[in-house]
Amino acid sequence: MLTRKELTDALIAHGFWLPSNVPGVWGRTERFEVILEGFDSIVSDIARKAGAERVSFPPVIEREVIRNTGYMESFPELCGSIHSYREERGSHPDLIRQVEAGNDWTEFLEPMPVTLCPAACYPLYPTLSGSLPESGREIDLTSYVFRAEPSDDPARLQSFRMHENVRIGKPDAVKRWRDDWVERARDLLLSLGLETDLAVAADPFFGRGGKLLAANQIAEKLKIEISVPITSAEELTAVASFNYHGDKFGTTYGIALPDGDPAHTACIGFGLERVTLALIATHGTDVRIWPAQVREQLSL
Ligand code: AMP
Ligand code: ZN
Repeated sequence: MLTRKELTDALIAHGFWLPSNVPGVWGRTERFEVILEGFDSIVSDIARKAGAERVSFPPVIEREVIRNTGYMESFPELCGSIHSYREERGSHPDLIRQVEAGNDWTEFLEPMPVTLCPAACYPLYPTLSGSLPESGREIDLTSYVFRAEPSDDPARLQSFRMHENVRIGKPDAVKRWRDDWVERARDLLLSLGLETDLAVAADPFFGRGGKLLAANQIAEKLKIEISVPITSAEELTAVASFNYHGDKFGTTYGIALPDGDPAHTACIGFGLERVTLALIATHGTDVRIWPAQVREQLSL
């Protein structure tokens, strides 16, 4: 198995990635994208057959959603803010002087009412306010997301795509749906030749209070992850997550079951770059000699 550095070098040398000067930010070539899109299409097909509605959001989110969902309490270090120049902050010539002198110019900037989107499902919940149909809803969505976690691990990106499915409805139905997806995803990854490991997991909540939140998340089995080897056979990398949120979003956004109770929600998400990297790390950099059945599934 290639190390982080070896895999990174191989991705560039074999024409999958284009380097930038920022850790965790890469250009993707067609050679990389056809694999990623092949996998993305498989997930879309599963979702379509299950009757999910397909929606799409830009990779930004209202700042108020970050506030209402408690994102800054839990993940303040990951959120990517968006700022722009406003004249009230200082004159344009003064701004240019700072830029051209190589100095910091953030004093001239003002926060915009949006931030970068931290998870594909976040922009969805505020749009669901109101009463749900009896059987609830199921949504399929893919988006670029941003997390400020620079790293030399090629599988830890700052800007990457997440293919998510979201189920909104009654508690039992939502929980069952989440657990069914764990099995379905595991079968899918196994059929692509990936060695999968399933575990109850926790999000990287910030600070001392975060430890408590993580412990609760594990005790209640709110998050399950499927991990695979990418740059180490011992330290596996999560390629898919399966989250049960209880009535958190239902309560925050007034998403109601037909009887008026708050709806429960769950989301499942594949990290598309991570799945693609796992396939390259497992089957090699020459896609032409990958197992025929894997190429066929991915339409390669
Ligand atoms: P999470 O919302 O943290 O459970 O993330 C959903 C999925 O996105 C994970 O299962 C990973 O496959 C993927 N993912 C999370 N963080 C990163 C990252 N920094 N770089 C690449 N993929 C990621
Ligand atoms: Zn989600």
